[in-house]
Amino acid sequence: MIPRYSPTYRWSDLFASLKFSSNDSTDQLAEALACLYGVRHVFLFDRARVALFALLRAYGRPGGVVVPAYNCIAIPECVVAAGYRVEFADIGENSFNMTSDTLEGCLSPNTTVVLLTHQFGIPCDVHEMIKLCRSRGVLVVEDAAAALGAKLHGHLVGTFSDATILSFHRTKVISGGLGGALLTNDGDLASAVSELMEQASSPRTRWEAFAVEAAWKIAMGERTYRAVHLGYRLLREEQMFEVVKSTSEASGKFTRPCSQFSKALVLGQLDNLKSNIQHRCQLAALYTTKLEGQPYLKLPTVPIDSSPSWIQFPLVVDNRKEFFSYMGRRGIDLNWTFRYCCPDSFQLDGFPNARKAARHVVGLPTYPSLPESRASQVCFAAGSYRPNGCISRPSSSTVQSSS
Ligand SMILES: *Cc1c(COP(=O)(O)O)cnc(C)c1O
Repeated sequence: MIPRYSPTYRWSDLFASLKFSSNDSTDQLAEALACLYGVRHVFLFDRARVALFALLRAYGRPGGVVVPAYNCIAIPECVVAAGYRVEFADIGENSFNMTSDTLEGCLSPNTTVVLLTHQFGIPCDVHEMIKLCRSRGVLVVEDAAAALGAKLHGHLVGTFSDATILSFHRTKVISGGLGGALLTNDGDLASAVSELMEQASSPRTRWEAFAVEAAWKIAMGERTYRAVHLGYRLLREEQMFEVVKSTSEASGKFTRPCSQFSKALVLGQLDNLKSNIQHRCQLAALYTTKLEGQPYLKLPTVPIDSSPSWIQFPLVVDNRKEFFSYMGRRGIDLNWTFRYCCPDSFQLDGFPNARKAARHVVGLPTYPSLPESRASQVCFAAGSYRPNGCISRPSSSTVQSSS
């Protein structure tokens, strides 16, 4: 079975990191990221959400934080845990991201921070939105958790705002197991974050981190994956590791620094970032070419002059469950992210586009270890998909044009 994702590290990376992380030397990963992004300050945490938590605490201007409604629930939860109020903005009609229109409608006099998310690694329209924020004096933060290496107008996404968060979770562009970074050029913010980090809890030990990633490496292997997948289905937890269940993460977890093991694991793969992204883009181009014109699947739109990092290739499909089962029977597993609309957890109505995305989006796999031949198989299966009860007529317009 083709897994929905596969960690980007190889066995050799895991063993090398185990060895390397035994000598707690200087922070080479932080230096490498500072160099890559051209920023002065880099802080490494256990997760991207922890980086955001630290940033909000360090900023210390409690008020409203605007976040997109189509999002990982961990983000609004972390905003609340940091003592701020969440202000949701809908995503665009043909986008998985917030737009300047949806942002403008929800900026309030209480807004102190705006989070610009590059969902799935597809860049959002930062420039228009930053203009809106600048005139109001709010802090602009990019959520580039999924967008390591993504570019807009030739510049790395994450270089446009006051601060940026990145993730090295095993499902992201570079898998470090767990891991997140906070980047900023703001000296005041940086010293406040440094202060907070003095009270941080202790990171995961290298053996703990190694054992967990070795287990994932085995679970996500093509041979073992079918059994793992079946097990989850029998337990009725088919959505697997993509639904965040907790509604109140222990605050200890929100102050955890990155483990030495994860730092070494990410650092070892940073040299391959270019080929990693290149491969993801090749697969996305293949999906686009082969599935264009498939009347039952809507392909993602990408901003002009941008190069996404494609942690998955999101599709909009009417009957997502049926499509998921159909692909599953053909040995292809799909991503479900995210099956909920965050405002629901806050008893808020509205946000029609986020709601629609939560019901209809699935993701095709794009990881570097997926060969093009396997991606072609994915295209063939997806291209032949017809909803149940639909014999041959895709849509009335096609019927007309062929008659
Ligand atoms: C994965 C992800 C996060 C959370 O990252 P963690 O490292 O798991 O905290 C936040 N935002 C976006 C857009 C993500 O894709």
